[in-house]
Parts: sequence; C-alpha cells; structure tokens
Amino acid sequence: MRHRIAVVGGGPAGLAFARVLHRHGHPVTVLERDPAPDARPPGGSLDLHEGLGQLALAKAGLLAEFQALSRPEGQAMRILDTDGTVLRDWRPGPDDRANPEIDRGQLRDLLLGPLDVHWGEDVTRVEPVPRDGVRVHFADGRQESFDLVVGADGAWSRTRPAVSAVTPHYTGVTAVETSLDDVDTRHPGLARLTGDGSVAVYGANRALVAQRGSGGHVKVYAQFRAPLDRHAELDGADAGAVRSSLLALFDGWAAPVLDLLRHGTAFVRRPLYALPVSHTWTHVPGVTLLGDAAHLMPPLGAGANLALLEGAELAEAVAAGTDDLDETVRAFEERMWARAGRWARFTTAGLDRLVSPDPAEALALFDQVQPSG
Ligand SMILES: Cc1cc2nc3c(=O)[nH]c(=O)nc-3n(C[C@H](O)[C@H](O)[C@H](O)COP(=O)(O)OP(=O)(O)OC[C@H]3O[C@@H](n4cnc5c(N)ncnc54)[C@H](O)[C@@H]3O)c2cc1C
Repeated sequence: MRHRIAVVGGGPAGLAFARVLHRHGHPVTVLERDPAPDARPPGGSLDLHEGLGQLALAKAGLLAEFQALSRPEGQAMRILDTDGTVLRDWRPGPDDRANPEIDRGQLRDLLLGPLDVHWGEDVTRVEPVPRDGVRVHFADGRQESFDLVVGADGAWSRTRPAVSAVTPHYTGVTAVETSLDDVDTRHPGLARLTGDGSVAVYGANRALVAQRGSGGHVKVYAQFRAPLDRHAELDGADAGAVRSSLLALFDGWAAPVLDLLRHGTAFVRRPLYALPVSHTWTHVPGVTLLGDAAHLMPPLGAGANLALLEGAELAEAVAAGTDDLDETVRAFEERMWARAGRWARFTTAGLDRLVSPDPAEALALFDQVQPSG
C-alpha cells in the first residue's frame, strides 16, 4: 500500500527527501511556504562533503551533475591576522574533491528537477489525530491529512511542536551578512584578497569571513559576540548607518580587510540560534523532523550536508517499503540523532573557538581540521 506522505519545506532536507522518493517512484507532496523558487535571494555557497552532502546527491542520482556544477577550487582557505598578515594560505590539490562548493541556488535547482512542489503553502500547525493520520493546517484555514508528515521546515519549524517543546536559543554570536557583485571587475583587490575560496580574519570576539560564489559574487559575514539586544542599529534599512556601525566594531583592522565591509551593498543581521546539542524527542507516530528543524546548529559547514543526507536516507528507508512505516521512521530517527549529536557538539565547540576572546583558538581549530594548512 502506498502511504500518503508530505514534507513541509523545500530546502535541502525537504528536496533531497522528495527527490530520492521520486527516484524510487514514490509520490510525495512537497509543501513550501515561498511563493516561487526565486522568491528570495538563495543565499551563499555551500561546501558538500564527500561522506555527507555528496553521498546524498549520489542517492538522488545527481552526483555527476553536481560535479559538473561545483567548484573544487572554492575549497581554498586563507587566514589573515587583523593587520592583514597572511597566516595560512591553503589550496586544494588538483584532484581534491572532498568538499567542493556549490551555490545554494544551483543546488536547489538541481534537486528540484522534475519535482512538483506546492509553492505558497504556509503550514501553521501539524497535528497527529488518533486513527486518522496527521493533519496539516495551512494559514488560509485549509487542512489535509497524511500518513507521514516530515518537518523539513528549518530553524523555526511549525512541525517541531508536534514532537518537541524545545525552541532554538541564541548562541551569543550575531552575524551581519553583506555581498559584493562582479568582484573581479569592480573590486579586483578584494577579488585577490578572497582568492578562489574564502578568506577569514579572526580578532578578539569577532571575525570577518568572505566567501566567493560563482559569477564573481562574494558573500561577506561579519561575526561578533554580543548580547542579543546589543547593536539593534545593525537591523536598520539604512545601509550607510549599518556600514558605519560595523566599521566602528572592527576599528583598527587592516584597511583592505575593512574594504570588504566598505563596499558591501545591502546588510542583513542574523543572530545565530541553535537547538540544544543532542536534541531528541519521544517518537510520535506519523511525524518526524529533518535538518535544521531537528538539530539547528552553528553554521560551520555541516547543516546543509546533514539535511541532504537525512532527506536521502529517510526516503530510501521509506521506499524500501516495509509494512511498518512507523518502525522505519523510528529507526531512522535513532541514526539521525546519533550523527547530528556528534556534529552539534563539534560545531558548538567550533563556534566558541572561531569567535573567541583568544583569536589563536581559531587558527588552532583550522590547523586541527586542515593539518596541511
Ligand atoms: C550564513 C550561513 C552559512 C551556512 N553555510 C553552510 C555550509 O557551508 N555548509 C553547510 O552544510 N551548511 C551551512 N549552513 C547551514 C545550512 O544553511 C542549513 O543547515 C540548511 O539550509 C538546513 O536545511 P533545511 O532544509 O533543514 O532547512 P532550510 O534550508 O531552512 O529550509 C527550510 C525550508 O522550509 C520552508 N518553510 C519554513 N517554514 C515553513 C512553513 N511554515 N510552511 C512551509 N514551508 C516552510 C522555508 O521557506 C525553506 O524553504 C549555513 C547557514 C548559515 C546561516
């Protein structure tokens, strides 16, 4: 018997789940709040690890297409002191495909392929109903029932309350994001500073990271440790005022580094939130969570990778088609919790070291994960 399955959210987790089910010929309803795929800017670049995100794409039959689109040279990483001195300048070898980069928008389009996503579906609540499956409530008042509802709806999941009362907490670190376009032509100095991949500068309790995407696009992240209610001025729509505040926050850093902020156009403030490390829940028949909805963690290159692999693995397990869908989901959750717990510990400790009172901690972390640096 075919189960009625819905996934809430068309991010990496939801699309990987739907695409792998689709590959196995299993119908799935994808409910996405955005009215269209290009309704929001897709965001920066993601590095997909060989044993995580790339494995998920292999399960979806998309690895060759990923390899054609991705940028292995984007793995390059340069670390500068706040005075501009180069401390590390790591470049991948010619055959290094451990963590190639791909633009989020390219990844989304790759996963979307033939999927029939229901755009503009704003899910407000998910409610298990005894003997009647799981009811999905929409913002316009409609309701629809399914046998399995997979919450892949991100940090502020509306599915999560059906299984867990836990909500994300502020990590103590805020990021402000800006970007530079057409960098090779318009800002050749900053293009050289950023190189083919990323450049990072670590100071006391603050960091500046710039990362190249495709098409001469560079995303810049200014990160600093501060109470949530401090620096409210960085939320303003006045880009000039935000830029001035950021330049004051990073005062004394080398001029070419600060140029990354000076030339940024629009600024977006993103306080970093996380769920508790090892977030689990008592299994609820008919509902589960994937990706950030299950285990939001600091952005140290794991979240999208885990989201993709979890989506692909759950889909494979469901498609394997045992009669007991609930037991399949329960077994999947145990595996997901164990792996995500390890990454949540690593990324939480990592954020403490990258935005630390002692910038030497950031360098030590880099040397630990990239010994050839
Ligand atoms: C600055 C930054 C850089 C990062 N860099 C990396 C990196 O390099 N590598 C990496 O692995 N990870 C990275 N991450 C983490 C990564 O972005 C997330 O872990 C990943 O996007 C999680 O995927 P997801 O599908 O679980 O959730 P999301 O990507 O958040 O997708 C959730 C989807 O659900 C939809 N949705 C939300 N609510 C509803 C609703 N009520 N009804 C219907 N739809 C809804 C949303 O519109 C969205 O499309 C980074 C994060 C940040 C903030």
